[in-house]
Amino acid sequence: DLPLAELDPEVAQAVGQELRRQQSTLEMIASENFAPRAVMEAQGSVLTNKYAEGYPGRRYYGGCEHVDVTEQLAIDRVKALFGAAYANVQPHSGAQANAAAMMALLTPGDTILGLDLAHGGHLTHGMRINFSGKLYNVVAYHVREDDNLVDMDEVERLAQEHRPKLIIAGWSAYPRQLDFAHFRRIADSVGAYLMVDMAHFAGLVATGLHPNPVPHAHVVTTTTHKTLGGPRGGVILSGSDELAKKLASAVFPGQQGGPLEHVIAAKAVAFKVAASAEFAERQQRTLEGARILAERLSATDPAAGVKVLTGGTDVHLVLVDLRDSALDGQQAEDRLHSVGITVNRNAVPFDPRPPMVTSGLRIGTPALATRGFQADDFREVADIIATALQPSFDDAVGNDLRARVTKLAERHPLYPEL
Ligand code: PLP
Repeated sequence: DLPLAELDPEVAQAVGQELRRQQSTLEMIASENFAPRAVMEAQGSVLTNKYAEGYPGRRYYGGCEHVDVTEQLAIDRVKALFGAAYANVQPHSGAQANAAAMMALLTPGDTILGLDLAHGGHLTHGMRINFSGKLYNVVAYHVREDDNLVDMDEVERLAQEHRPKLIIAGWSAYPRQLDFAHFRRIADSVGAYLMVDMAHFAGLVATGLHPNPVPHAHVVTTTTHKTLGGPRGGVILSGSDELAKKLASAVFPGQQGGPLEHVIAAKAVAFKVAASAEFAERQQRTLEGARILAERLSATDPAAGVKVLTGGTDVHLVLVDLRDSALDGQQAEDRLHSVGITVNRNAVPFDPRPPMVTSGLRIGTPALATRGFQADDFREVADIIATALQPSFDDAVGNDLRARVTKLAERHPLYPEL
């Protein structure tokens, strides 16, 4: 029974290099975070060996007495965190959570109304070749061209016209808050279910820094690894027990077989962390960092054509609009990568450039906040990014920015014990 480094040096080496990449660069992909050691410990535990089809107390396998404890802890903690009456912690991912929630509420061929992928929606909200686009009849709503905010008049008009069975509110790339009560009124007016996918902003909701969708939606889905900072995974919540049976059977046996009990234990740990004062303080810094970034990027020389979509942010990310810049999304992503900052290019609404190139960047602050970044660190990061996106960028500037990134990374060591 050999340790990884001896049994499989090739894998061990790549893992080690990934650790060093995470330690030496600045991670600003808005959907990423750094899981605490205790979360990784639970996820790397012997619970990975256990089959536990079913739910706590009602399993199809023997020997589930200990995974019942961890799964029940996860359920109880996430219910308390979000004020939910029902929680299912078994979805393997956010996409699985959405697939199961939609399976519980819909029949193939039913109409769903979700935010267009090109305007910040997620693949599972109705993208053509995703299960959601293949199984359901998709109608998409959009943001308005003048202010890039979700067009609630359009949501209402499309709901009246198409009578969807489900309306999905939620996003992967949108810098503002949605009006859940307004979505619910529209859903009620046409007899539709409302599902809110809070995958991105769940950490902010958990700490009261973003409105909670649970009181408004029939079903809320989330991931556990973005702002929430836990292991990769999904969760389904509901404010009432009415849909409990349907949701439970859609997850298992509808979509999944054996739950990942090691991941569920890690979710329980993450929910405990998310209820702490330290976590709330971290989410505050996440928001503050995003605001600092939006302000700094808005103040760049207009000649560079770097703008901030909607003029700012209420959440953990900033969308940079490069439609007026000579740099496209790919070039901007590559340039930031060259100085040690990882972001992802992202289409902006009404993007004239192709989806593989794009005219935007999505830049998030959760991972750096977890790393301990304070306002002055975020000011320095914002200045590095703003400088990198200027037309005057050259090798000398790049070397200087790379050195400043290294300084910041060293000031906030990541996983030093590893
Ligand atoms: N929902 C939203 C809004 C997301 O942004 C994402 C991930 O990017 C998902 C669902 C899917 O999560 P996962 O990647 O865990 O399947």
